[in-house]
Amino acid sequence: MATVLISHSACLDHDTGPYHPETPERLRAVLAALETSAFADLLREQAPMATIEQLTRVHPQSYVKAVLDSRPELGQPIRLDSDTIISNGSAEAAARAAGGACLAVDMVMECLAQSAFVAVRPPGHHAEPNRPMGFCLFNNVAVAAMHARVFWGVQRVAVVDFDVHHGNGTQAFFAADPDLFYASSHQSPCYPGTGESHETGVAQNIVNVPLHPRDAGLAFRAAWSDTILPALNDFAPGLLIISAGFDAHIADPLAQLRLENDDFSWITDALVAVADRHCAGRIVSVLEGGYDLDALAAAAAIHVKSLMRT
Ligand SMILES: [Zn+2]
Repeated sequence: MATVLISHSACLDHDTGPYHPETPERLRAVLAALETSAFADLLREQAPMATIEQLTRVHPQSYVKAVLDSRPELGQPIRLDSDTIISNGSAEAAARAAGGACLAVDMVMECLAQSAFVAVRPPGHHAEPNRPMGFCLFNNVAVAAMHARVFWGVQRVAVVDFDVHHGNGTQAFFAADPDLFYASSHQSPCYPGTGESHETGVAQNIVNVPLHPRDAGLAFRAAWSDTILPALNDFAPGLLIISAGFDAHIADPLAQLRLENDDFSWITDALVAVADRHCAGRIVSVLEGGYDLDALAAAAAIHVKSLMRT
């Protein structure tokens, strides 16, 4: 069965201003890498805007309204914290980022695709229910997980996160619910400072494996093989969602892990195997970070090739 690529040009209109690493060029680089003949078999869909109902399963109504109503004048972005920006185009971009993740859930649940890659921005995993943070406005993967739970009746949903940063927002939303599972490998110390191994949720449903700066593929693969993948198999999700950040790449300027392209194919192949075992192969991957344009494009392309099983 096919893999679907979901994106939208409105995600390019989230304007973070000059000198910000989370640029529209990131998404352009990923989409260009997925235009080659190797990706001719991808289904391609436009990301819809998430509905208020979808967004308010994770974020309070007042928060959703505040983000969606924020329309600063063109060229006059508002700084929400030291690195999180809202511009004239951000509300639609953020709504389509979360909506694209929900469409991906719909397509794999309806068996229109086996897997999905949601190439959107702003990213989401730092956004807490009540707080934008770390370039993120809505928590796209959490919104998708709750859409799977509430709309599709999937009882147990897992989000796994190989972005170099800990997904504090996803963990904050998941930690109290034993039917939600969140696991992350990430650099420590590093932004945002959460993700210690003793943060385990109400039912060992949170699994964190901090890695040291300069750790490479060997340590990364051990974290997943020895700790995260066994816990994920024990959880036995009905749907597997990936927070796919590519900033643990050796070329990335924002952190010091040293992953190479084949590490991203290794982890994706391992996660596809988990999805085959527990979820009838259903797997939804949503773009998070990755700030070296060439490394981001190459690693995302390798990740999608693995999702396509080619
Ligand atoms: Zn990151």
